[in-house]
Amino acid sequence: MTLANQASSIPDEDLILPPHVSAAGFRSALTAMGEVVGERFVQICTREKMKPDTEGHYFNLPLEHDLFYTLEKETFLAGAVVTPGSVEEVSAVVKLANKYLTPLWPISKGRNLGYGGAAPRLRGSVVLDLGSRMNKILDVNDRDCTCLLEPGVSYFDLYDYLQNNGFKHLWIDNPDLGGGSVVGNALDRGAGYTPYGEHFSMHCGMELVLPNGEVMRTGMGALPDNNTWQTFQYGFGPYPDGLFTQSGFGIVTKMGMWLMPDPGNDSDLPAVVEIIRQLRIGMVIQNAPTIRSTLIDAAVYAPKKHYTESTGVLRDAEIDKIAKDINVGRWNVYGAMYGPKPLRDLQWEVLKGAFMQIPGARYEFPEPLAEGAKQTVLHMREETLKGIPNTHELGWLNWTCERGSLLGFSPISPATGVDADKQYRMVVKRFHEFGFDYIGTFVVGWREMHHIVCLTFDKTDPDSRKRAHRCIELLIDDAAAEGYGEYRTHIAFMDQIASVYNWGGNASMRFNETLKDALDPNGILAPGKSGIWPKRLRGRGLELRRTAPYTREGKASMDVPVSDITSPSVGSEHSGTAMPPHSRL
Ligand code: ADP
Repeated sequence: MTLANQASSIPDEDLILPPHVSAAGFRSALTAMGEVVGERFVQICTREKMKPDTEGHYFNLPLEHDLFYTLEKETFLAGAVVTPGSVEEVSAVVKLANKYLTPLWPISKGRNLGYGGAAPRLRGSVVLDLGSRMNKILDVNDRDCTCLLEPGVSYFDLYDYLQNNGFKHLWIDNPDLGGGSVVGNALDRGAGYTPYGEHFSMHCGMELVLPNGEVMRTGMGALPDNNTWQTFQYGFGPYPDGLFTQSGFGIVTKMGMWLMPDPGNDSDLPAVVEIIRQLRIGMVIQNAPTIRSTLIDAAVYAPKKHYTESTGVLRDAEIDKIAKDINVGRWNVYGAMYGPKPLRDLQWEVLKGAFMQIPGARYEFPEPLAEGAKQTVLHMREETLKGIPNTHELGWLNWTCERGSLLGFSPISPATGVDADKQYRMVVKRFHEFGFDYIGTFVVGWREMHHIVCLTFDKTDPDSRKRAHRCIELLIDDAAAEGYGEYRTHIAFMDQIASVYNWGGNASMRFNETLKDALDPNGILAPGKSGIWPKRLRGRGLELRRTAPYTREGKASMDVPVSDITSPSVGSEHSGTAMPPHSRL
């Protein structure tokens, strides 16, 4: 069936239309886009065609809706998915989007797990799937340790390419899960764990399609036939690259990334927040160490029911038992040293001296595994710390139930013990109130920590979805009241989070809206991304307000006392009941 026939065979009321677009207009837009990208690369979405919940997996995520929905499954349903094959096609589609006022939501791989996946913030938007066809590694430069990528290149792809094409000495940095897009992750300001873990800082040069369809190159890419596009980040004049992260100001079609030269054999190492901050700022620790709670490690190995018969929120004693069973502490630091051996030996002396002052701390290096032996979390982290992509951390999903769902909550924290403690208690209090186990990790950056909290819930249970949603909603406000803000979020919370970044009478949002309206006067690119709505759609009831206060129909897990919370900060008054901090190297 031709695309036009397919479009006309779907009744008007079944089309998922963006605001202010008629069924006829939407059909015309999709038909015109089909002429640009090829008819078979346009999928029209309907409620009936949404992938059933029993399908869909990390490697086979739906592109039209969020697999892990807390609101209704179709709240963030796309009107269509269009898959261009070249920058010229992207540009032509953008021009058509302006003509028909059909909003676009660009994605790379769409594996934005816990943050909405590929789903658009604005229902009815056309998901622009850049990842499926624009997935080439355009260049790897051995001398400069750089590469130039299209949006569809995943960490697995890049790693395999380097391994198989004589570039084994070039390392990549990947986040916890290796299936995401290198470009997409940097654009959403994702992070990894080697010294190159601050992904956006390691990008160098972009090609992008602006909301009016114009194609632009940033940095040295603006100079025709230059030879430094992937080696000098700034070029000449204003440096706009940051404007295209978390913004909806442009569609990135190529991006340069810096690669890390193999630093020699590695080893791993221990710590805790106060110590880590000083060592991090002093650059003794070169990468982002993680301080992981017991249950995040436990969840990597097996679902909750494997450890306990309890279905309520786990209490301290139960978590202590799990920690013992899997031979980890209540808090576990995973880190690594990089560089030539003499340098690492010296580093280790400094690190050991610092960390071993913590009473009860112990450390461990990953020993080579005997044939057929099971990997421990330490081995899994070793892979990640060496930039070897993997999916071990997908285990989190099954903690609560089979085919469970994940909602990410990621506030930024000062790298202090006091703040770690405060953040932890703040989250645990709400999680217990709403019946969720705390699964989380603190990832220490240069001078701050990303507190990454994984709320796992059962989307087949409407009560679980509601609780998950309301819990995060309250936490965003709890965090803001303490001066903490999130670095990244699920699409359902973009408006709320933007609303708490409101210094100076919302000066930052006014600036963003001014830019948005200037760059994207028709408001066709990623409306609602990071809470930035274009003039045409602003204040029209599309923003997601906080839901009505949700009261849970009395369940036992609600009444876990706040005092029954173990603190991550070493030596604080709250750590008394916990097992000694256990540091893993
Ligand atoms: P992942 O890298 O985890 O697979 P996505 O591809 O979904 O994740 O990217 C994360 C988010 O970044 C998307 O929801 C989108 O808002 C934005 N994004 C991804 N790729 C692009 C791109 N090429 N141009 C502009 N924005 C993008």
